Amino acid sequence: MLETPLEFIESWDQWAKIIALASIVLGLIVFLRYWLTYAMSKDPKAKYDLINMKEISTLKSLSVFIIIALAFFANSFIDEIGMAWMVIRSFVTICLSVILGVIISNMLKFYYPFYVEKRLKKLRYKPRVSPKTGKAMKLLSEEEEDVYLDEGMQAEENVFSIDYDVWVDEETGFTKIEKYSGHLHAQQCPECNYQTFKVDREEILAQPTELEEGELMKYFECNYCGHKESRRFRVSKMKPTESSGTEPAPAV
Ligand SMILES: [Zn+2]
Repeated sequence: MLETPLEFIESWDQWAKIIALASIVLGLIVFLRYWLTYAMSKDPKAKYDLINMKEISTLKSLSVFIIIALAFFANSFIDEIGMAWMVIRSFVTICLSVILGVIISNMLKFYYPFYVEKRLKKLRYKPRVSPKTGKAMKLLSEEEEDVYLDEGMQAEENVFSIDYDVWVDEETGFTKIEKYSGHLHAQQCPECNYQTFKVDREEILAQPTELEEGELMKYFECNYCGHKESRRFRVSKMKPTESSGTEPAPAV
């Protein structure tokens, strides 16, 4: 049997409220799961990775759920206005939701990363605590750290936009090595100044030998303005005792 319009409207009102509530609950679950993982991880590097990989996508999901909830909730009182207005109102709701979604998505993509970057920097250089002595460890410089990196790691530092940080407990010699990837981590774009400039790909121009340094080209691309840049980097000699470093040469 077909429902009369009045019955349909009554059940719609109910369903819209249920959907709105469910959407809020789902959004909260997504957000709380992220927040709890963040709050419970003690290691600054674990926190760094979590923020880097998950924070923006979590906030994006949260805002989608909130927009859905608002849209359904705003349209759950139609018994007062009737069906004709409901169609118009649904249309307006969809337009507003899309606009709100675009605004939030742009803020998360272009402004929020500045705030993320500040926190990431703090976490990366926050003194690590030695589990042996409970004292602060020392972060080695690029030159000092090579002793602690095996050849594979040094090669990776040279070519794959990867940075290793080496922390040493000077009392016990305990070391902690952390890996940071340039492909996941955006820098400030020299053109538009947003924090959206990433290494896109790399190419070895000259293989390093035991006698000579090699050369590497890194291709950067901005996610916002599309600005592209290639930068030459020196690749340190093969000898493990030589000091390594990826010092940027002038851009070409
Ligand atoms: Zn840019």
